[in-house]
Amino acid sequence: MVSSPAMQISFKLISLILSLIISSACYSQTLQLGVSSSLRWYSLSSVAVADSNGKTSFSNINGSVDISGMNRPLWILLDRGHFQYENLETGVYAQLSDLDSLGGRVALNRYFDTKHLVAWHALEMVREKVLSTLPSLQNISWFDHQQKVDLKYSDGCNAVWDGTALSFFTGDSTCQASSLIPDLAIHEYGHALLERISRRPVADGQDYSEGFSDSLMAILGHDPLFGEGLYTQRINSHIRDLRYLVTYPDGWRGVYSGSLIFSGVVWSVFSRLEKLLGAEQAEQICLKALLLSARNLAQDARPQIVEAAKLFNRYVGSSLQEIGKGELNCIGDSELAIRNIQVATATSCAYGRLADLDHTQLTSLNALASGSYPKSIEDNKKVKIHFLITKSGKQLSKAVVHLDVEHFFPDDVVINYEYKNKTYHLYKGIEELPIPSQLEIPLEHIGPGQFSISIEDHGNSFDGQLRRAPVLDLYWH
Ligand SMILES: [Zn+2]
Repeated sequence: MVSSPAMQISFKLISLILSLIISSACYSQTLQLGVSSSLRWYSLSSVAVADSNGKTSFSNINGSVDISGMNRPLWILLDRGHFQYENLETGVYAQLSDLDSLGGRVALNRYFDTKHLVAWHALEMVREKVLSTLPSLQNISWFDHQQKVDLKYSDGCNAVWDGTALSFFTGDSTCQASSLIPDLAIHEYGHALLERISRRPVADGQDYSEGFSDSLMAILGHDPLFGEGLYTQRINSHIRDLRYLVTYPDGWRGVYSGSLIFSGVVWSVFSRLEKLLGAEQAEQICLKALLLSARNLAQDARPQIVEAAKLFNRYVGSSLQEIGKGELNCIGDSELAIRNIQVATATSCAYGRLADLDHTQLTSLNALASGSYPKSIEDNKKVKIHFLITKSGKQLSKAVVHLDVEHFFPDDVVINYEYKNKTYHLYKGIEELPIPSQLEIPLEHIGPGQFSISIEDHGNSFDGQLRRAPVLDLYWH
């Protein structure tokens, strides 16, 4: 369960506040917390101020706290019970004596205070967004337990989740303290989260785990750059760019290139949805799909990263159907399309990066076959799929049919198509070679009107399978 903010301040905390020495500082203006620019995405919506009577006020959605009626406000609470900070110089709270009054604003000015806020706020934000996006996760008791956070683990340029605590390194001559970089807090929380929400074990350090954590960061930050600002000596201070093209299997060089195969797909989908639906809705859809795919991914599937991307696409597709925006389809291995809205090509749909179609518009995208899949292609029988093509451009420039046909003896399979009452041969299977997932139709044999594809099994042993409805892509000028 997620309790209200007021309940999240424990009695212990309140009594601790009361027992502390009362400061004589008194601020009667609205408190605006101006903190490091590293907090570029977050409003400080959850900051609390407590006064000498134990009264607590919480900031509003804009990060403002009205402390005018308070009796000598004393403390800003940085801990609402979800994260327990270790290794702090000043304990859990920032004292008002650490604050500067700046013409109607009060800003935290001490370095360590800023540090508390960046990591604290990033962690609170990601926890809240995860639970509100997929409320069923509230049943996992881990979310109610306080997570240990060490802000000063060791010097160096890293952050780690070790299975029990989130630890931030304090930096060195080449980098800032990692607790100052929200991306890193979210990424490490992502590892902890994945361990808890996945129904099957996920090893930290694996491609999918890294890709999941980077995706979480990108979706919540609306930003494809991971770790911006960490390195102080570099021109490009980020650690990874999710727009960088890594395809499967050719581009794989190790865990972090593997992670980009997955996070690249997530970013591609997010950025397209952001353009179509706005950032807020894109965030909701992608975060939900990310969490659902993590929860339901079959970890024994190989390669996992490919299955993860497919599952993510599928969940995004079902969200789009729910809101009536069409369907996101992986077509064959090479294209991703949001039905009737937007189309992109990918070097490999589930395994690679999407790229915009170059001045080519895909205007017809139809799989008119009805019935359920997989559909058996029995010996000496055929499955026929009909399409009704309506003209939607001046001239047809390309026609591709996308198939997912499986047969133990591929040489038994023959694929034909029919247009204007004539039948044309398209493909005959070859022994031991999979049936191609895409076949191009010659332009002289296709156009407006009825068009059909037939998949025939000419053998006497083993039925074939049509694992999903063929899709016909028509490119019009
Ligand atoms: Zn990591």
